[in-house]
Formats: sequence, structure tokens, C-alpha cells
Amino acid sequence: MAERYWQKEIETASREEIRAIQDERLVKTVKHVYDNVEMYRKRMDEAGIRPEDIKSVDDLKKLPFTTKQDLRDYYPYGLFAVPTKDVVRLHASSGTTGKQIVVGYTQNDLDVWADIAARQLYAVGADENDFIHVAYGYGLFTGGFGLHGGAGRIGATAIPVSSGNTDRQITILQDFGSTVLCCTPSYAMYIAEQIKAKGIDPKTLSLKAGIFGAEPWTEEMRHQIEEMLDIKAYDVYGLTEIMGPCVSYECSAQTGMHVNEDHFIVEAIDPETEEVLPYGVPGELVFTCISKECCPFIRYRTRDIGVLTVDKCSCGRTFVKMTKPKGRTDDMLIIRGVNVFPSQIETVLLRMGYSPNYKIYVDRVNNTDTLLIHVEMNEDMFSDTVAKIKEHEKALEAELRSLLGIGADVKLVSPGSIERSMGKAKRVEDKRKLIGG
Ligand code: ADP
Ligand code: ZN
Repeated sequence: MAERYWQKEIETASREEIRAIQDERLVKTVKHVYDNVEMYRKRMDEAGIRPEDIKSVDDLKKLPFTTKQDLRDYYPYGLFAVPTKDVVRLHASSGTTGKQIVVGYTQNDLDVWADIAARQLYAVGADENDFIHVAYGYGLFTGGFGLHGGAGRIGATAIPVSSGNTDRQITILQDFGSTVLCCTPSYAMYIAEQIKAKGIDPKTLSLKAGIFGAEPWTEEMRHQIEEMLDIKAYDVYGLTEIMGPCVSYECSAQTGMHVNEDHFIVEAIDPETEEVLPYGVPGELVFTCISKECCPFIRYRTRDIGVLTVDKCSCGRTFVKMTKPKGRTDDMLIIRGVNVFPSQIETVLLRMGYSPNYKIYVDRVNNTDTLLIHVEMNEDMFSDTVAKIKEHEKALEAELRSLLGIGADVKLVSPGSIERSMGKAKRVEDKRKLIGG
């Protein structure tokens, strides 16, 4: 066993030990950004905070937040805390929510990243005997390179397939004996569907686990993927601004992701008042990098809503756990004044026995918001009468109304007709935005 990648000493350290590491690294990082990044120096000066005022994690709340807009304003290299000669890699966000941003990594930053990705792989039971099939995109997007680095670190065999070409993915799963599949959950679902369509029994594959993240997904979808691929499916979280995948990683308990607290301090805040919330209360996740050299962002507002807990985990790890973020504040739809996350809709669909292939259309007609959801009918409904299909639609609408608290129209469409995603799925089309609403 790759004992070396069960970093037991740190992963199961006492809360006091973790806190001591964070105190020390935060003090260093604040000095580093004050000395090297104009934006932080200016903001701290304006707020009357000297680097010496930050003595421990307790002082974190004195520091100003960093936002995606800051990364855009200082694009491309304005927030780098080291000269570009020390930068060995650049990555950019996938641009899901606007203009792309760019981040840099020193060699040490890449080493830390490989290390935390190795923790994720180890946590799902992988070691040097495994074949890590990386179907996240390779390129400026952080997905591919992130897990790839971890595979090298545990001495496993990396298979850098990248995303797309699903037939080839399946051939590789069969011929190369991939044991761990890494991709977005929506792509995992698509691969699973194609495996089924080809009449391949998943039990004939060597696959045992999947590491799926980069987008929100539900517990219901996890169960569906686990069943269809005959694997254990684990969540992984990360974002370009902070590192890429593996900022937090799921363990055998499958009840949330441990934040790598020796490298990142996590807080949950009220997005309106910006107040720090106690553990257990849902809030916007805010990360502070405490070991990074190139882009050690301070109190970066993710806009992801999650819940933090420090309860004892059955795996033995002591790092704070965060729940699957149910979506970003930017993904949240406000429909007739009611907040709706696409993930709530997904939960209903899957509970009612549908696949997670759906598309949400929001519009405004006569000054009233409308919500229309296209859902693929199951194969066995395909031969149903029009009246029967109407009945299915009505049943779904009733269920959605009771969970969301607002009415939605459902249209069942033919199986396979909703566009599949090989990366992050785009499930919402909000036409109100197009007309400036
Ligand atoms: P972009 O911002 O362009 O999508 P990133 O690849 O950096 O680029 O995306 C990071 C974001 O992806 C996170 O802020 C979060 O919203 C989402 N995300 C990543 N992992 C997960 C996950 N496991 N569950 C839910 N959302 C996730
Ligand atoms: Zn755990």
C-alpha cells in the first residue's frame, strides 16, 4: 500500500495542531502579499491594517475580501505575488460565468497541488496499482492536470484521455483496465448511458471508483452513477482561483469533502452582511490560501453556498468538512421572488425516476417569470399514449411545486434528445438575462 500518501500526521492532526499551522502560515502569507501585491498593500493601508496586526486565524476577519472582479481588474498578472520568471504554469477558469481569469503556479505550488490530489486519490482507495483515467479536460482548465498530478504522486498509472470522444473513452476503459474514472458527474452519467446502450456489462470493467466534481450534482445522481457503473462515486471540489480540483476531497464516508486546511483556511459567510457564520449554517464559502507562492488570494469569495462541519468523521480525518455546494449564488434563479437552485429540480427528477438529463428555461411573459423544464422521458414511457405522458408531466409538476414552492411547467421530451455535456453541463437558459431583466 502507498502508505506514504495517507498523510496521517496532518490529515488526522488535532484541531489545535491544525490551527497552529494555519496561524503560522497565515502570518507569513499576509506579509508575502503585502510586500508583493499592490492591490493587497493598498487595501490593507486603506483599512489601516499592518501585516503585523495579523497574528493568528482570529485576525482573519480584519482582512478585506478578494473577488472574481479583482482578478478581472488585475488581469492577467497584476495579482501575482512572485515575478513571472518563477511561474512555471498558467491556468485559466473555464469561463462559465463571464470573462476568463488567469492564475499562475510556482513549482512549489504545483507540488502542493499534486500532494492534495494524491490525498484525494488515496482517500478513494487508489495506490500505485491503479489506473487513473482522467477524462477531465486537459488544457487551461485545471481539471485534467490536477488529478493527473495526483496520480503521478501516488505512483499510479495516469491515463490522460481528456474529455470528449466517448466511444474512445469506453474502449480505453475496456482495454486499458482503468480503475478510477475522473470527470464531471454529467460526463460520467453520459459515459454510463453509452456503456448501457452498447450492451456492455459494467461488471466486466475494472472500474471501482469515480472522482467527480467541477459542477454541482445531487446525492440522487451519485446513486444513479454508482449503480450504472457499478462503482463508488466520490465528490471533489475546487476552483481555479484557489488551486483547481482537490481544494477539498471526499473520503470513504461519502458525506462531504474535507478541506485541505493546512493549505487553505475556509470560512462560511452571510453573502449579504459578510458576517462569518458558525459551523453548521449554510453560507458562501470563502477561502484563504496559506501556502501558495504565486496566487495566495486572501478571503476569496467563491459564491458557492455550502455548510461546514467539524464533527468526527468515520475515516479518521480531522479537516473541516464542507457539503456539496448546491450551486453558486450566480446559478441561483429568482423566480417570482422565490430562490431556486437547479440542483433542487434535479433532486425531484431523480427521485421520481427520471435521468439527470434536463434543461431549465426561464423567461418573463407579461411581467411574470415562467419556468419550463424539459425532461427526458424514460425508455418505457416512449410508447405511452399522449394522455399518459400528460399524466406523468402533471405528477412531476405537482412534486416540483411542493418542493420549490412555485409552479413549473414540465415537458417530457424523447430519450437522448437533450444535449449531453463532456465537461460542465449547461442546464439553464435564462432568457430574462438576454432582454436585460
Ligand atoms: P469556472 O468558474 O469558469 O466554472 P472553475 O473550473 O474554476 O471555472 O470552476 C470552479 C467552480 O466550479 C466552483 O466555484 C464551483 O462553483 C464549481 N464546482 C467545483 N467543484 C464542485 C463540486 N464538487 N460541487 C459543486 N460545484 C463545484
Ligand atoms: Zn472523512
